[in-house]
Amino acid sequence: MKILLAEDDANIASLVTDKLHREGYLVEVLANGPDVWETGETGDHDAIILDLGLPGMDGLSILKRWREAGLDTPILVLTARGSWMERVDGFDAGADDYLPKPFRGEELLARLRALLRRSGRTPSRVKAADRFTLDEQARRITFDGRELDLSPLEYRMLSVFIERPGVVLTSAELASQVQGRDDDAAKNAVEAMVARLRKKTDSAAIETKRGFGYVLPEKRP
Ligand code: CA
Repeated sequence: MKILLAEDDANIASLVTDKLHREGYLVEVLANGPDVWETGETGDHDAIILDLGLPGMDGLSILKRWREAGLDTPILVLTARGSWMERVDGFDAGADDYLPKPFRGEELLARLRALLRRSGRTPSRVKAADRFTLDEQARRITFDGRELDLSPLEYRMLSVFIERPGVVLTSAELASQVQGRDDDAAKNAVEAMVARLRKKTDSAAIETKRGFGYVLPEKRP
């Protein structure tokens, strides 16, 4: 399950990301309004958690544009202000649920689960990509039919690849999706993790595109 978290408060973003990661969600975190708008519109996420107060473009305008463009991703709106006016505006603009700050992580998770359930997005299917299979419910990944023994970070990183076979992922993208940040330390950790995953699978399981990033090869004939 892939969640877009649009939140410009770094503390809240990192707390929520931690919570979501522990529940096995993949998280893409963005803080800038226009980036959020563009990325959300791809429809590439199972749900979106949207803070209304974002720099560059406010959350309410983003939400309206998405719905006008026909985006049907379930959206949970966060707001610091918590006034009933905002809540009404949010629902009018197409929010599926609403959570005022401050909130407890457990409540956010419960709302998110309910939202995903209502929209029929349940992590039931087993995905296959190249020589891998991913069972999100059992948090299990197999390679050539053999179950891999993975740390939570390794599991998350492989899930990102399995969700997007054939797509070249940069170290920065992988770092931000796996660890919630893309500084140099996180990018170096990605490199080390790719090396470990190759050892646990096969040196060709994840390919390097020199100067660009890494890719899980598309299913071979
Ligand atoms: Ca904010």
